[in-house]
Amino acid sequence: MADVFGKERSALHRLVAQSASRPYYRPLTARGAEVELDGRTVVMAGCNDYLGLSADPRVTEAAARALRRYGVSCSGSRVLNGTLALHEELEGRLAAFVGGEAALVTTTGFQANLALAALLDERDAVFADMSNHASLVDAVRLGGAAHHRYRHRDLGHLGRLLAASEPGRGRLIVTDGMFSMEGDLCPLPGIVELARRHGARLVVDGAHDIGLLGARGRGVSEHFGLIGEVDLVTGTLSKCFGSVGGMLVGPASVVEHLRHSARSVLFSAAMPPASAAAALASLRIIESEPERRRRVFGHARRLLAGLRSLGWDTGDSTTPVVPVYVGDSRLCLRVWQELLDAGVFTNAVVAPAVARNRALIRVTPQAIHTDDHISRVLDAFARVRRGLGPLLPAPGVPGR
Ligand code: PMP
Repeated sequence: MADVFGKERSALHRLVAQSASRPYYRPLTARGAEVELDGRTVVMAGCNDYLGLSADPRVTEAAARALRRYGVSCSGSRVLNGTLALHEELEGRLAAFVGGEAALVTTTGFQANLALAALLDERDAVFADMSNHASLVDAVRLGGAAHHRYRHRDLGHLGRLLAASEPGRGRLIVTDGMFSMEGDLCPLPGIVELARRHGARLVVDGAHDIGLLGARGRGVSEHFGLIGEVDLVTGTLSKCFGSVGGMLVGPASVVEHLRHSARSVLFSAAMPPASAAAALASLRIIESEPERRRRVFGHARRLLAGLRSLGWDTGDSTTPVVPVYVGDSRLCLRVWQELLDAGVFTNAVVAPAVARNRALIRVTPQAIHTDDHISRVLDAFARVRRGLGPLLPAPGVPGR
């Protein structure tokens, strides 16, 4: 008889089991711009705390105050017993910041995206970028809508899929704002125009861009001058906000519907008090310290230019998500290990997070990095390139 515990290992599990590199689930014993791993201090170049707020004293102090006042947990879901005034304050502030009538905060960004399932049913058609985050893919599956995936950032393909879809269906376009692995931006002006032309609603996941993009950090909509043109914005508090939590920002009627029907909200414990207080403190810093954005973008530009001049392929990124395409998954794990040996912690990203043969090392600078940290990252990549030389693909080659 089949045994559900006896399933074959996933491709990722097999890859890791066969490799001498150990890039995943590594326990750190200290965190910051530098981290401690196995008793060694290395540069942290693989963390989405872009603005470096997770350990900012103003943020940790706000979290500590909330912890002392409310305890560690709300011990229940928002709907029954887990709502604090802090959650409502955060919702009001996020709605104003992102640019929507109302907001709903959730326990994680993944749950915010899963909540979208409550807007969908089998009569609807969703048009989704192929590189969208896994949580958006799962939301569409859970909602039971027809799922049409268009090639990454390909407006022509999106337009053709929209034109070919059955009339009468509810239509929703869903895209990441800034892509979490490629570091490029969705072509928002073209998407807004297609949404209007085809009567589709538009959801943008701003997990990586809220706090980071736009003059005031209001995200990809501000970057393109399109605040108010996206129907619903989702996001996370675990990246630029240095906390944990998720958000949905949009029309009050839609947010109210989600509050009472999204199963990922109704049936899961609320965001902890310390996380809500930390996010509020971070939002104040995001609004008042634009130099943090300038600093992290400066680091990103230096990394992108430096890596390209060393012969690495960094794709189309223009942001602090700096992908370094390696192509082959095994080679990617090896590159990761050699970078670590050279004193730099990065992220090894392989399938299913990216397409097979598109494995990459993700490098993410933070505002708290010094120029010396960035030099150390570039030195490590130079050293690995010298060591592995002929094994590595030439720029532009790996399955692009
Ligand atoms: N959307 C995107 C684009 C993400 O990168 C992530 C985090 N990896 C999420 C959603 C989920 O956010 P969280 O970590 O808060 O669950």
